[in-house]
This record gives sequence, C-alpha cells and structure tokens, in this order.
Amino acid sequence: MSLLARSGGLGPLCAAARAVLPCLWRGKYFSSGREPAENQVTPMLRHLIYKIKATGPITVAEYMKEVLTNPAKGYYVYRDMLGEKGDFITSPEISQIFGELLGIWFISEWMATGKNAAFQLVELGPGRGTLTGDILRVFSQLGSVLKNCDISIHLVEVSEKLSEIQALTLTEEKIPLERNAGFPVCMRGVTKSGIPISWYRDLQDVPKGYSFYLAHEFFDVLPVHKFQKTPQGWREVLIDIDPQVSDKLRFVLAPGVTPAEVFIQRDEMRDHVEVCPEAGVIIQELSQRIALTGGAALIADYGHEGTKTDTFRGFYGHKLHDVLTAPGTADLTADVDFSYLRRMAGGQVASLGPIKQQMFLKNMGIDVRLKVLLDKSDEPARQQLLRGYDMLMNPQKMGERFNFFALLPHQRLHGRSHPMDACQSKPSVSPVAGFGELTWR
Ligand code: SAH
Repeated sequence: MSLLARSGGLGPLCAAARAVLPCLWRGKYFSSGREPAENQVTPMLRHLIYKIKATGPITVAEYMKEVLTNPAKGYYVYRDMLGEKGDFITSPEISQIFGELLGIWFISEWMATGKNAAFQLVELGPGRGTLTGDILRVFSQLGSVLKNCDISIHLVEVSEKLSEIQALTLTEEKIPLERNAGFPVCMRGVTKSGIPISWYRDLQDVPKGYSFYLAHEFFDVLPVHKFQKTPQGWREVLIDIDPQVSDKLRFVLAPGVTPAEVFIQRDEMRDHVEVCPEAGVIIQELSQRIALTGGAALIADYGHEGTKTDTFRGFYGHKLHDVLTAPGTADLTADVDFSYLRRMAGGQVASLGPIKQQMFLKNMGIDVRLKVLLDKSDEPARQQLLRGYDMLMNPQKMGERFNFFALLPHQRLHGRSHPMDACQSKPSVSPVAGFGELTWR
C-alpha cells in the first residue's frame, strides 16, 4: 500500500490552486498575450556588443552566463519568468501533486537510511518556492513520522527577485526576515511551519551535513559550451557581432582550438556537442557531500544520455525565441546530458536513472494521490486536477520529456548502512522509491 493511501491524504487542494492551465512548458511553444521582442536593442545586447568589441567573440557559455545571471541585467536576476504571464511553466507550478510526491520521496529515503536525527533540505534554483512549499506541507502532514527530526531548509538562488517571492511563499509573515544575514547567508527566516530557512547564492556556501538536495529545471539553465566537428577537428561555436548589422549577433566558429575542448570525450561520435562544465562542478560537489555525510540528490530535468546535438533554445512568452535576439528578455536553456552528470559523479556515489517522469510519478503513487484529491474536490477543481495530471504524465507532454536522476551513497544500494548509522544492526536494502515502487515500511 502506498504511503499516501496509508496517511489518509495530505489535506485539501491548496487555496491558491494552480490556475495556470492550459500553460506551456519549455520545449513546446504556444501563443500567449506577450509580443516577441524582435530586434530590440536591449541593455544586455549593448553590454555584449561592448564586451565583444573589447575582447573578441565570446563562448556560448559566457553568453548564457551573462544573459541569464549577470548581477545587473541578467534575465533571472530581476524578474518572475514563471507562469502564465511569464515565459515558461514548470511541473510544481502545474500541480501540487508533483511536490507532494517529491516530499514523500525524501521522507522515504530518510526512513530507508536510518531516520537520521537531523537533515537539511537543499533546493537549487527554487523558482517561486512552490516546490519546497508543497514538500513542506507533506512534512507537516506527516509530522508524526518526522517527529524529533531537526529539519532545516536551504535555498540556493541567484535571483534577488525570486528570493523575495520564495520568502513570501514560504515564510511566516509575523517573523521578520533577516536580510543580509552575513556572508554567505543572504537571507534567513522561519517557514510557515516553524522550520529555519536560509538563502545562499552558491551551493558551496550551504553548510555540509546530512542533506537531501533537490534540483528541478535547474541544470538546464547552466551555461553550455558548443562544439562543431570540422575537417580540421573540433571547433568551438562562438558569438560575434554580425558584420552586416552592427547591433545584431551571430554564431561563428573559433579559428583554432579553445580551452573548453578538453571536455569533449575522446570517442565522441556526434558531430555537434554541448558540454556544461558548471554542471560537472556542481555534481562533483554534491557527490563529495553525499559520500561524506549521507543523504541523496534528486535531479529532475529534460535531457538525454549523451545522444542529442543542438538543443540550445530560447523561450519568450511561451514561444520559442531566437537565442541571439533581444538577449536578457528571454529564457535560455539546453537539454541536460545525464551521461555527463553520471561521469562527473565519478563513482563517489551511486546514481539511478534517468527515468521518465511518467514512470517515476507512477511509482511514487500519483494515481492514488489523484484519486484522494478528486474525491474531495468540486467540479472546477476536479477538471483542473485532471488537466494537471495529463500535463505531468502524458508521454506527448511532460511525461516522457522530463527525467528523474538520483545520486545516493553506495551503501544505500548495496545493503550496508551508512557509517553514521553503524550502531544500527539492520542494513537498509529497500528499493529506492520512484525508481521502483514506493513501499511503506
Ligand atoms: N525549480 C523551479 C524554477 C526553475 S527556473 C521550478 O521548477 O519551478 C531556474 C531557477 O534557477 C530559477 O529560480 C533561477 O533564478 C535559478 N538559477 C538560475 N541560474 C542559477 C545559478 N547559477 N545559481 C543559482 N540559481 C540559479
């Protein structure tokens, strides 16, 4: 029996029911009210043109980093791009069930690894804070299971604007937030359910300790280098000013070898590749932490197993958008190469997946949870729940495009308990929920 059915449900549909349907996820384009920003000379475009004039063509990775996270003009830094009025929609914004099932996943892993006395939940790129909010609701509802466990929340967010929205979503109004809480903590507060919560700009700054890490649609916005195979060997794709139009950018190939070429596999068979060194650094950091102190990382994103070629795309107002047009006004993204993430984990930890979202959520008991909510809802809410379920699960929509991938201590999969749990006599060998069926122990 699933944990959700046992619990008798996790409460009613949120008051702020997800009102965004029908809406669109990255990878599909539909029309919306927003006009495309064609040929707009944005402050970011001006900045990039100065930069290229001063130092020459830039890599695609540098372009993505500047456009998305430049502290003064970056796309992510000062706006809310999620939802109907934004540029794209994500699973937690579509249905509360998504976050609830992830909450169950963390509890299930916490139980399977010996119910540690404390854990940190660390989310990378938390958007509006909706996903952590849904997870925290599950933690509250299952308070009897988690009682005596010392939980803290740690959010790694580059965007000031989104950090403020996350604080509004997650924290108790009556307890003032401590802003500029002192490096490396940008902000500190208490969640609506009384749990300490802190914000950071970088994963490195999050305290080390037994943690569950979560990254949903985070790795796809990290900067990629792009390479094209040519008769002279691999050449990096760069971005330069169009000689015909002075305020327009264009792709060019580097005339010779560039440093990032070291990231290409020797036996690479494709003729165009994208590599994301920043993703590699983050995976190595997560792997070291998990190997050292236990816990797990759950990564969900769209991606491939080292098979795709050109996946660099822009999104503006729920439509595909030319990546070089009006930089700073549109989201930029590239599919995640899960085979690269696995290589970067480097055997320090075990990895599971990628497994399709549809299969993961099915294994987590999405059908049982949907039924519980449908039974409690009136007609408009039922229709909304069903549409949300269809978006998340339909193979033509998000069901097959999105994947789940996990990093776990080797001990978790091979039946030995973590050294921290050495006093426990019973080894933990239960299957990992989501990648197999959720079992309630
Ligand atoms: N996880 C959320 C939001 C995904 S959008 C959801 O699924 O709804 C990507 C998120 O990552 C945003 O919150 C963005 O501000 C953040 N982000 C982008 N680049 C980042 C970086 N380098 N470091 C930390 N956060 C980053």
